[in-house]
Amino acid sequence: MLISLLRLHARRYRKGIFCLALLDFVATSALLYLPALNAKIIDSGVVEGDVPVILYIGSAMIVVAVGTAAVYSGAVYFGSRIAMAIGRDLRNVIFDHILTLSPIEATRFGTPSLITRTINDVNQLQLLILTVLQLFIATPLLCIGGVLMASVQDLPLAGTLLASIPILWGVVAILLRRLRPLLRSTQSHIDTITKILREQFAGLRVVRAFVQEEHERRRFDASNREYTGLTIRVGRLMSLMSPCVMLIVNLSGLTVLWLGAHRIDSGDMQIGALIASFFYLMQVMVSVMMAASVAIVLPRAYVCAERIQEILLTDSSVVAPSASAGLPPIQGILQLQEVGFCYPGAEVPVLRGVDLTIRPGEATAIVGPTGSGKSTLLALVLRLFNVTTGEIFLDGVNIRKIAAEDLVKAVSFVPQKPQLFAGTVATNLRYGSASATDDELWHVLTIAQARDFVEALPGGLHARISPGGSNLSGGQKQRLAIARALLSKAKVYLFDDPFSALDSDTADRLRRALFLETSSAAVVIVSQRISMIRNLDRIILLEEGVVSGVGTHVELVERAPSYRDLVLSQSMQGES
Ligand code: ADP
Ligand code: MG
Repeated sequence: MLISLLRLHARRYRKGIFCLALLDFVATSALLYLPALNAKIIDSGVVEGDVPVILYIGSAMIVVAVGTAAVYSGAVYFGSRIAMAIGRDLRNVIFDHILTLSPIEATRFGTPSLITRTINDVNQLQLLILTVLQLFIATPLLCIGGVLMASVQDLPLAGTLLASIPILWGVVAILLRRLRPLLRSTQSHIDTITKILREQFAGLRVVRAFVQEEHERRRFDASNREYTGLTIRVGRLMSLMSPCVMLIVNLSGLTVLWLGAHRIDSGDMQIGALIASFFYLMQVMVSVMMAASVAIVLPRAYVCAERIQEILLTDSSVVAPSASAGLPPIQGILQLQEVGFCYPGAEVPVLRGVDLTIRPGEATAIVGPTGSGKSTLLALVLRLFNVTTGEIFLDGVNIRKIAAEDLVKAVSFVPQKPQLFAGTVATNLRYGSASATDDELWHVLTIAQARDFVEALPGGLHARISPGGSNLSGGQKQRLAIARALLSKAKVYLFDDPFSALDSDTADRLRRALFLETSSAAVVIVSQRISMIRNLDRIILLEEGVVSGVGTHVELVERAPSYRDLVLSQSMQGES
């Protein structure tokens, strides 16, 4: 999974990776050559007292060392660029894929997890790529080359060196085996902590209002402590690693020196060869440690790759065709036939047998108690979800056959919870129509009864809006959302409780202007306030997912007892 993911995304950078490998090869080879030069300078220069040879070989060593450093920095530069580029591509791919998911799949992952996967998990993969890119040539080359070069210097000493590799690797492997499961669970702990943090920061006001800080702090404390404990255990094992490794490296060094001293004594070997062998030993040990660093990053990266693939392999349950074949300009006749819907995992359907036709020039109200399925019905028309039974047609064409773009252009929507984005008033409105002029913006703002407050904002149309519109009141957000929907000049308008956060006066003015502006379109308006919709030709009463009454206000008051109750309760509050 990890490998297939990386191979797919590294493909574009084949050339860069090849250059990197070449640079690494050159630099490592040079590094391997240095101890041999060192041996030569000692044996032919120092021991013989030959100053020109010392100067000659010495300057060669300086050139090789400086050259190696330069080539290595080139390799690191390329490696970082490639790793970061692959990370960027991955984030793009994940982001694009998340945008195609329907709310059903998005809820299954949950927002915090989607964010962690896009940022943190990709970072882990990036780290792995960086480590591997820097080591995949250097490590084996240094290890094998070190042993070979050492055996050129002196065969028995190279044997010692060869023997110390499995010992060092064995110790490192034992530690890594105990480390892996710990590293794996740290990743899921980060997920948990992010989840708690996000939830609590998002609900900060609520937490304050209900004086729940103490409780929340305890909850956070518990998972934080668990995470800390885990990290400490990781730290302990890691701190064990360094002394163990040093012990083995030094013991091997000692063995090399001891054996070498005897062989020099007996005249089988020169002093330069001994020093070179010692350097090769160090280089080989370093290469083993480099391999270990990959082994540390690997398990975490593996888990992250799995989590990323999980997103990428999730297909949206709502797939729209890329082009709607032969669709004439949309008039806006919306037909719902026997529509039923059941949320995945829910036992009872939210909607059953809803039959409805809405024509251009008609405004239809949907009223009903909360939870009766009003918002769900609008979501089905927008095709956020697929209907479970029945069909929805737009101008006689099944909406499953209409491209997402065309559907969005034809159907404009004001959600119950107005969603604004970071930017300005103007950028938010232009989500409705990217090419709208300022005059058009002011026009829709006037209809939405938002002109006054937008004018009062510093900067007017260019006033800043915080992420999620958090610097505006509920009513202001709602009116901007209405203005945005009006801007798109759709054939069908869906308003989900657009007056809920407005005072009656404003709501009344908005209602008049709104119906005037949309008089030639098909309008569906969900509202809890009878006073806002009582004048409409048609009111649909939705109860527990079933249409239990259709008619004018007067007809429904006569026929539908629950509608009458609703009217009575609101008139008692002085509403109508
Ligand atoms: P209304 O807008 O009339 O208040 P909704 O359409 O929002 O009602 O919700 C109708 C029912 O569907 C509710 O009982 C609610 O529990 C359920 N519901 C709404 N959204 C979801 C969801 N994403 N997953 C599962 N059930 C949901
Ligand atoms: Mg609702």
